Parts: sequence; structure tokens; C-alpha cells
Amino acid sequence: MSQEQLNENLEKLSPLLAEFSQQPIRHFINSQWVASSTGETFSNNSPIDDSYIGEVAAGTAEDIDTACNAAAEAFDDWAAMPGKQRRELLHAIADAIVTNAEAIALVESWDTGQPLRFMSKAAIRGAENYRFFADMAPNARDGLSLPAQKHINYSLRQPIGPVGIITPWNTPFMLSTWKIAPALAAGCTVVHKPAEWSPCTAALLVKIMHEAGLPAGVVNTVHGVGEIAGKALTEHKAIKAIAFVGESQTGSEIMKQGADTLKRVHFELGGKNPVIVFDDADLDRALDAVVFMIYSLNGERCTSSSRLLIQKSIAEEFVEKVKTRVAALNVGHPLNPSTEVGPLIHEKHREKVASYFDIAKDDGATIAIGGNKSDVDGKGCYVEPTLFTNASNSMRIAQEEIFGPVLTAIEFEDEAEAIEIANGVRYGLAGYIWTGDSGRCIRLGRDLDVGMIWVNSENNRHLPSPFGGMKASGIGRDGGDYSFDFYMETKNVCIATNDHAIPQLAKS
Ligand code: NAD
Repeated sequence: MSQEQLNENLEKLSPLLAEFSQQPIRHFINSQWVASSTGETFSNNSPIDDSYIGEVAAGTAEDIDTACNAAAEAFDDWAAMPGKQRRELLHAIADAIVTNAEAIALVESWDTGQPLRFMSKAAIRGAENYRFFADMAPNARDGLSLPAQKHINYSLRQPIGPVGIITPWNTPFMLSTWKIAPALAAGCTVVHKPAEWSPCTAALLVKIMHEAGLPAGVVNTVHGVGEIAGKALTEHKAIKAIAFVGESQTGSEIMKQGADTLKRVHFELGGKNPVIVFDDADLDRALDAVVFMIYSLNGERCTSSSRLLIQKSIAEEFVEKVKTRVAALNVGHPLNPSTEVGPLIHEKHREKVASYFDIAKDDGATIAIGGNKSDVDGKGCYVEPTLFTNASNSMRIAQEEIFGPVLTAIEFEDEAEAIEIANGVRYGLAGYIWTGDSGRCIRLGRDLDVGMIWVNSENNRHLPSPFGGMKASGIGRDGGDYSFDFYMETKNVCIATNDHAIPQLAKS
């Protein structure tokens, strides 16, 4: 049955891929599809079987300049458009995403290796991002009224200007919408630089936005490598802010690159997130969540719970159950709807993930299961879903973001030690707590140095809530009004009642 569904999906995908192979993916600037200024392209292949998808325009500093100028030209009209009208346009984009959701999911799976079962949801989540911020557009400028004795202060917001959005290759469609939708709702125009390993759905997204009626220049997409196109975007003087999702090291580079033009930055970076399981937890639910939060999305997820901190009293039994579940994971072709784990994004990334198998052994940890590269029908950038045990927090497998289906289990004695281990990394994105003790939930909510904490739950999305990390995991928050704080300037106006005493100088 699932083989039949795989064949059906491959058939549906075939005409979609034809479009990508017939001509290069070009930039989209000022409502025109354009080649790179040098005419250069790079090749894009699928991590499923290394098959050739097509060429992609290799963006230059000149392409970025053209795109930024288009965004600057379009800014005044877009910012002045009534919020209600922007709202309607963003809903039209959401409608079109829903109409195209299957095509987006199929192409994303093929381009990234992500299982279709997750990508179909990611496309719909992309539409939800537009709807949520569409409804906030009419009130985006609202501020506060702050009366004093002889003055009244009121604040108002205005869009900051054209912004640059730089996105990574993990769930690239959904993440792009998470950034572009609030920027547009706020009244900003956009230059988007998608990741070079996953360009396809960025092209579909900008096409959808254009066909939904977005005016020329409001969103421009320039493909290319980070060190050239991305760098030029972060340095461009017309761009007022950079929203970046990617590695911590890249965030650091971007901060330096943007220094001369005083860029405002928003960073969503790496993570090494703990899931802490106490012996008083509902262990069946905890087991489901632990397995889901590291082995779904191929472990290529910033909020994945890549460190299992497990209380000693239950460690042996719980870890054994994790191991049994890992052994049963369905690794396969991502377009097969029953597949739970697909290939990693790229051969280079597979090499990085696989290098931790030796690092784990060298550091004295045990590979309880997995620990090898693998394939499906002799092809693909696969690694076996892996579980490391007998690990300590000082080991590299406990400290570094591996970004694959690889879990490191570490034992702890009591709550104090759990907190110490959880906080003992450079990252601070998310933390997951499993316990039946409500007071402990409150204590850990206070004491964990992470931006987001889920208690007795896997990662659960709520669009108005703040999303982002502490320490090396990021700067700033997305979600609800937090997104507008980034994409907008807050102004204060102070008006006198005209009856206060003004200090008088040089008056006889
Ligand atoms: P990456 O940092 O290598 O690349 C991200 C983007 O930055 C790409 O578009 C790339 O071309 C561009 N880039 C690279 N160098 C640049 C430079 N010098 N100037 C400007 N742009 C540049 O990240 P990746 O490997 O594509 O993505 C995986 C990383 O993203 C992981 O660390 C993951 O944790 C992180 N991530 C974080 C979140 C979050 O919300 N915190 C969400 C998703 C992914």
C-alpha cells in the first residue's frame, strides 16, 4: 500500500520537477524573473538519490543591490497602504498556499529529504503564519497612551524600512513564511536570501505572493551562497534590519558584516536542547515526546530535544524503551507517507553528523543503537537513527549541535543536578520538562536558561507567544507583537497641556 502511495507521489512530483530542470531557478526582483548579473548558476541535487534537480542563479552583490533598490523604491507605497488592504493581500497569499500545499510539500520533500508526513503540515503552517499576521496588520501601528501631569505621551509604530531575511535549509518554506509574513504585515518590504541547499520552495513562495497580487518590489528573492549574496545583503545601506535563522557562527559573522551600516538584527540560532525526565512523570507520554522531538524532521530542527536528561532511578528502563522505539523507526523514502526518517539535507551535512559517531566512541560514550551511515536502495544521505548512552555533559556529543537523528542520554541524580547539566551548554533555545510535580515545573521554568520551556509536552506552537533563544541561541523574539517590535520603530510623541513652567534662560 505505501509503495503504491510512494509511486503516486512520485508521479505527482514529476511535472513539478520538470519546471525546475527545464530552466534555472532565477531571482525574482521587482516582479521580474532575472538571471544572475554574471549569468552564473550552481547545481541543486536531491539528497534522496543525488539526482539532479536543476540549476539555480548564483546571486552576486550586484543582484543584491538591484533587489535592495527595488525594495527601497516599493517601500513608501507599501508602508502607506491601509492595514486592512495589506490584511486582504496576506489572506490571499494564505489561500494560494493552501491551494498549492500538496505541490509545496512534495517539492520540499524532494529538495530537502524531509518526510512528506511532516512537510504537508509545514506547508499548511506556512499559510497559518500569513493568516495570523494578516489579522494583526490593521493594528500594527497601535501604541500606548501614557498621560503625565502636564503632558500626554503617546507612542506609535512605523515600519522600519526594507529588511533582509536570510533563511536556512531546515523546513525552509515554513521558516521563510514565519519571517516574511510579519515583515509584510508591519509594512516592510523584503529581500529574501534562501539557503543554497534548498532553493525550490522559496521560488514557489515568491511566485505565489506575486500571483496573489503583491505589488512589484515588495518581496524580492535572490538566490546564492551566503558568503556572497547573503553577505552583500547584510551590508547594503538600504536595508534597515536583518532577520536571520541559521547557525550561531553565521549570526556572529552577520553581526560584524552589519556593523558599518548599524543593522538591527534578529537571530534565531542553534540549540542543544534538554528534555528532562523525572521519575514522577507520566513516562509513557514522556517516551512518545522524547522520541518525536529528536527523530522527527530527521533531527534537523532547532528545537529538537537532542539531550535526554534522565533521572538515575528510572534511567535503565526508560533508555531501554527509547532504544526499542529507535530500532523500530521507519527509515525510508521521504515521499512514502509511512516514512518517519529520511535522508539528511546534503552529503556534507551527513559527513558532519556521522563524524560524531567516532567522536562519541573516542570520548568514551556508548552507541546504544545506530551509529552508521546508511542508505535506502543503495542511495541517499542517510544515517541510522542513533542513541548515545553513558555520556557526560562535558563530551562533545553533549555540547555541540549535531543536527541529525541523534540523541545523547545523560543521567542525573536530582533536580539540582538536572538544572546544572541543562544549563551547562553555550546554547539556550528550548527546554522540555517531564514531571508530575507542579512546584518543580515552576522552579525549572524559573531556573532553566532557555528562551522557551515546554512542560509535559512536545514543542507546541502558539503564534502569539514569544519564540526565540538565549545565550548562543539567538537575539530577539518572534511571534505576535514581538515580531512587530523588530520590524517596526516605536516613536513617542509628548504634547504639553501648555500650562507647565518652561525653564527660562537669559530672560531679564
Ligand atoms: P547557516 O548559518 O549555514 O546558513 C543559514 C543561511 O545563512 C543560509 O541562507 C546561508 O546562505 C546564509 N549565510 C551563510 N553565511 C552567511 C554570511 N556570511 N552572511 C550572510 N548570510 C550567510 O545555517 P544552516 O546550516 O542553513 O541551518 C541550520 C542552522 O539553523 C542550525 O544551527 C539550526 O539550529 C539553525 N536554526 C535555528 C532556528 C531557530 O529558530 N533558532 C530555526 C531553524 C534553524
